[in-house]
Amino acid sequence: MSGRLRIAVQKSGRLAERSLAIVEAAGFRVIKGANELFYRVENAPIDLLRVRDDDIPTFVEDGVADFGIVGRNVLEEHGQGASVEIMPLGFGRCELRIAAPSAFDYRGPNSLRGLRIATSYPKTLARFLERVGVDAEIVAMRGAVEVAPRLKLAHVICDLVSTGATLEANALIAVETVMKSEAVLIRRPGVFDAELAQTAESIAQRFRGVSASQGAKYVMMNAPKASLAQISRILPGAGAPTVTPLVGSDDAVAVHAVCQESVFWETLEKLRGAGASAILVLPIEKMM
Ligand code: ATP
Ligand code: ZN
Repeated sequence: MSGRLRIAVQKSGRLAERSLAIVEAAGFRVIKGANELFYRVENAPIDLLRVRDDDIPTFVEDGVADFGIVGRNVLEEHGQGASVEIMPLGFGRCELRIAAPSAFDYRGPNSLRGLRIATSYPKTLARFLERVGVDAEIVAMRGAVEVAPRLKLAHVICDLVSTGATLEANALIAVETVMKSEAVLIRRPGVFDAELAQTAESIAQRFRGVSASQGAKYVMMNAPKASLAQISRILPGAGAPTVTPLVGSDDAVAVHAVCQESVFWETLEKLRGAGASAILVLPIEKMM
C-alpha cells in the first residue's frame, strides 16, 4: 500500500453511510468494488478500511489505519488514548446517559450508590463513577441494555440516547449525562512520511470545509445604512458582513454574510423588523 493512506470507517451501522458521505463530499470518488474489506478512492491515494466501529480505535492506534471515523463514545471506551482527535464531524450525535425506571426518585449521582448499573460502556461508566465519587456495581452487557431493569439484572442503565424513543418504550427516564458524543476524525500517533503527510493534510482540510459548510448559510439582504449595527447583531454566528452600495440609493446598502449557525424564520423576521428587505438565505456547498 505504498503511499496510500487508509481511513478506517464503520462497515455497516449508524455511522457507515455518513462516513462515506463525508469522504465523497470532500471530493474523493469512492469505488465500491467487490472487495468487502477495502473501498478504493480513485482520484486520491486513499483506501477505506471497512470494519466494526469497536475495532477502529485499536486499528488507528496500532497503525493498521492512518485515520479513522468513529464515535467519540467508542474512542473513549475502546481506545487507549494514543490516537489524536483531529476534529468533530457534526454527525452521529448522541449522549451516553444514565436512565432509571420512571418511579425512581433520582437526586443526583449519590442516588446511584450501591446500585447495579447495566451498560455496554463499562470503562466509561467506571470513570464517571470515580469522577463523582460514587461506588456502584457495573453490569457489562453487549446489547439490549434497556431491558436489564425489567429482568431485574440491574436497577438502572447507562446507554446511548439520541431521540429517547427506546427509553420511553421501556418506561425509563434519563437522569444523568455521562458524556456527549458525535463522530470524530482521528489519526494514528507518530509522524507521516512526506507523501502520506500531504494526503493527510488534504483530507483534514477538505473535511474541515465540508463540516463547516454543513449548516452554514449565505445570507443576503438590502438594508438601511442606519440599521447595520443592529443587523450584524441579529445574524447568527456571522463575522463582519460585507456591505456594498446599491445603485441609485444613498441610504440603503446590500449586506452579505456567512452565518455559521442555523438561520430560522424568527431570525428573518427580526431582520425584517430591523428594516431589511429582499432577504435571501442560500446553502453553501464548499468553504475553505
Ligand atoms: P458495529 O457493528 O460497527 O459494532 P454498533 O452496533 O456497535 O456497530 P451502531 O449502533 O451502528 O454501532 O452505532 C454506531 C455509533 O453511532 C455509536 O457508537 C454512536 O457513536 C452513534 N450513535 C448515534 N446515535 C445513536 C443511538 N441512538 N444509539 C446508538 N448509537 C448512536
Ligand atoms: Zn460496535
